Amino acid sequence: MIGAGLGGLRTVEQLRSAGFKGSISLVGAEPHAPYDRPPLSKQVLTGAWTPERVMLRDADALAALRVSTRFGVPAVALREDAVEFADGTALTADAFVIATGAEARTVPGQPKEVHTLRTLDDSLSLRSALHGANSLLVVGGGFIGAEVASGAVDQGLRVTVLEALPVPCERALGPEAGVLCGRLITEGGADLRLGAKLTRFVSANTVELADGERLTADVVLVGIGAAPALDWLAGSGVVVTNGIACDTSGRVLGLPGVWAIGDVAAWKDPLRGGHFRYEHWTSATDQAAVVARDIVGTEPPPRTVPYFWSDQFGLKIQGIGRPDLADSVLPLKGEGLAGGAIKGTVTGYFARERLVGVVGFGAAQWVARYRALVAQNAGRAEVLALE
Ligand code: FAD
Repeated sequence: MIGAGLGGLRTVEQLRSAGFKGSISLVGAEPHAPYDRPPLSKQVLTGAWTPERVMLRDADALAALRVSTRFGVPAVALREDAVEFADGTALTADAFVIATGAEARTVPGQPKEVHTLRTLDDSLSLRSALHGANSLLVVGGGFIGAEVASGAVDQGLRVTVLEALPVPCERALGPEAGVLCGRLITEGGADLRLGAKLTRFVSANTVELADGERLTADVVLVGIGAAPALDWLAGSGVVVTNGIACDTSGRVLGLPGVWAIGDVAAWKDPLRGGHFRYEHWTSATDQAAVVARDIVGTEPPPRTVPYFWSDQFGLKIQGIGRPDLADSVLPLKGEGLAGGAIKGTVTGYFARERLVGVVGFGAAQWVARYRALVAQNAGRAEVLALE
């Protein structure tokens, strides 16, 4: 296993529960044992959780998996039958699973004091910067930016969020639900600037926008998404399509004996073709189960529907399926899309009249009920009939 995050650990667990008896190595670039990332922009940042709580397994539980672990050692190259590491060592194996995740994107010329948020160390550094600060500027109105903004507002900071597009989360959720994400931020108490294009950092605390306006804050976070951690694979022969191109079982195209999962991998979509890189917690977990069984040679688990969530401003946003594929959207429940209450709003995403995704705002029961219809790519009439 290369990459000791969620996907790496889950693959080890799944291999053992699928009956794999051989030796397993889990090697990761970070100095920490596998930990959970969602709380980093939520409970860890606000101080509600200690950093220890994000650890996915303690030393005894890792030992029980009979896995040999090495942390703080990045892989630097993948050769035909070996992975090479930064300390000059190499590992050979019958099967390699790549789970190196993603890295926070940065703005060109971004000063090193400006925060990004991907790792436990990033979260602890941002947490200590927010402590005692009065103002926060968030560049990027996506999920992580909005979650951090939400926590900072709760801690009494003055928060400004810059979003370059007309609404936040437009690429992921489309313009209609994007309006709701924007309302959540403004109604939650942050100052959301839409269509605000950052041109440069004047200093670690001041940015300049395309119209010449300058904004200053005690703490600045850049939250403009994550790029797959692929640099170490240069020259290895992996096909890259915004992630490592894999078939529907996670086998890396063109490299027998190598699988990839999680944020670094772009799996073939069995229903619609094309390769797609999910950056969801549950996708890393679900893909680990598929890959482990493929390695062991047993029946694959039942196909799952992609699922993600975000907690911000007191509400849980949940999505299933592929909203990004939609050519039309329909309000399914609630008043949010008509300008009413956000809570309870459910939006259906359709491609050629078939349901490809559902997104709910504070509507967990409904989202769960639409799951089967998304899995079946149900038609409009059937979707609208759900009571
Ligand atoms: P990761 O968990 O990132 O693990 C990859 C590991 O590989 C890292 O430890 C990395 O250091 C290591 N690595 C990288 N390069 C190398 C190398 N060359 N050699 C060895 N090791 C390497 N998803 C949701 O659905 N809901 C949420 O609310 C949510 N919140 C999130 C909040 C934050 C702050 C972040 C960062 C992510 C969040 N996610 C959320 C996404 C979710 O955490 C990821 O989809 C999931 O962690 C992906 O697992 P992974 O194993 O692919 O990658």
